[in-house]
Amino acid sequence: MIAYCGLNCKACDALLATQANDNAMREKTAQKWSRLYGAAIRADQINCQGCKSDGQKFFHCADCQIRSCCLSKNLPHCAACDQYVCPTLAGFVKLAPEAGKALEALRETV
Ligand code: SF4
Ligand code: SF4
Repeated sequence: MIAYCGLNCKACDALLATQANDNAMREKTAQKWSRLYGAAIRADQINCQGCKSDGQKFFHCADCQIRSCCLSKNLPHCAACDQYVCPTLAGFVKLAPEAGKALEALRETV
């Protein structure tokens, strides 16, 4: 459940709210993410089965540049990329250092 970008989908509030089908959790996550990312995210947009699932994805993750880049290169995650750390990924891990740490750990295994 590690996303292409290094985020841990298993621990993600959107996935947890979706799995529990809990609208209060969706509302709480929407408010938290709206604050964190300076965007207007609604509770009904908090639906996600995980970055690598075939199911529904949170719109931002579905449109994610890093995700589509990994898919186009047929890579399991950015740590397996010969351009690691590219500027796009560097910008992202500044906002999500936990994803950067996960990729660093994966890097040691590739
Ligand atoms: S793909 Fe879904 S579960 Fe994974 S980080 Fe994004 S919103 Fe969370
Ligand atoms: S080019 Fe960047 S975003 Fe694309 S797979 Fe490589 S490290 Fe990830």
